Amino acid sequence: MLRHCPLLLAQDLHGRVYDGFISLQDKDFRLRIILPADLQLQNANIQCSWQLKKALQGYQQILRQRLQHSADLPSFMMELKTILEVALKNTNILQTAPAPQYYSCLLKDIEDLGWDKLSFVDTDFSTIQLKIEDSSGREHLVTLKLNSRYPNEAPECNVDFPIPFAVSWTPQSSLQNIHNQIVSTLESLKGFWDALDEIDKNTWVLEPEKPTRSATLRRIAIGNNSSITIDLDPRHPTMLPECYFLGADHVVNPLREKLNCNIHLWDPENGLLQNLKDVLEIEFPSRSHLEKADFSMDCGICYAYRLDSAIPDQVCDDPRCGQPFHQACLYEWLRGLPSSRQSFNVMYGECPYCNKPITLKLSNKKY
Ligand SMILES: [Zn+2]
Ligand SMILES: [Zn+2]
Repeated sequence: MLRHCPLLLAQDLHGRVYDGFISLQDKDFRLRIILPADLQLQNANIQCSWQLKKALQGYQQILRQRLQHSADLPSFMMELKTILEVALKNTNILQTAPAPQYYSCLLKDIEDLGWDKLSFVDTDFSTIQLKIEDSSGREHLVTLKLNSRYPNEAPECNVDFPIPFAVSWTPQSSLQNIHNQIVSTLESLKGFWDALDEIDKNTWVLEPEKPTRSATLRRIAIGNNSSITIDLDPRHPTMLPECYFLGADHVVNPLREKLNCNIHLWDPENGLLQNLKDVLEIEFPSRSHLEKADFSMDCGICYAYRLDSAIPDQVCDDPRCGQPFHQACLYEWLRGLPSSRQSFNVMYGECPYCNKPITLKLSNKKY
């Protein structure tokens, strides 16, 4: 025993209680082993210090197995050492705490920046959250994860931007530099966010339900179970975004034509919303008169709106019906109809609501 674990000593004459340390990689972990009266190893009670417990997290099953199969305590201790060695490689428990200079440097950086710019700092000063307001009054939270080699290594920067953002950093940089870089990126995105804020405020955005600042897509209700999805380029927010329509042919085909014919009316000087109205020649349903439920119609087969993550995006083309369905629901429905037929990836059958012909173009994801 002494040979493998010189710091683990028997505490009684019967050799039932051992107390001390197991040493690995220049570090001592406190533990106490209590064997039952029959000295059966598999029923041993092993008490670990929190560091050891943390290091061995996830290895309990293996340890129990080794306890059962080890011939005696010394051979179990050998096994324990091997497991601990592997475990330590996979955790950062041995990662040394930052040097005192880390804190003095960081505190000075925070002083220079101003404590009021911080919305959060964790207890060991390794995660800092900055609160930055842009010139349109939008508040942005930026999370910085500092490693113990700060300021020699750049902090990891978590932002909610629609474009990639990487901090440019030298060992002479400070939090103020990061702050400045973020502020100038926020300014470059001002037009993008202004345009989408106007859309969010004045139209019924069906998706995403709670847009993040990085979201470039908006699906906007048009009415009659139809909607337009726009994908705005964050670097060119005044240009015509990508547009996709969703809805019955008789509603969306005229809109597609308008978009094609009126594209010359798009004027970067006007806002995104105004431009969309001008080229489509429509007014978007107003938020003050209508509820969101008026547009997000449930699937006519399963009576739900969301199915997994899918929305009812198949619409009956009959002008008097216009009932939306999930693609998966409509597929199952048509498959069960004796009169339906399939040609390549298109299914033909009848609408469950109005019995008029309906076609389903299968996207090749599930079928
Ligand atoms: Zn459904
Ligand atoms: Zn129908």
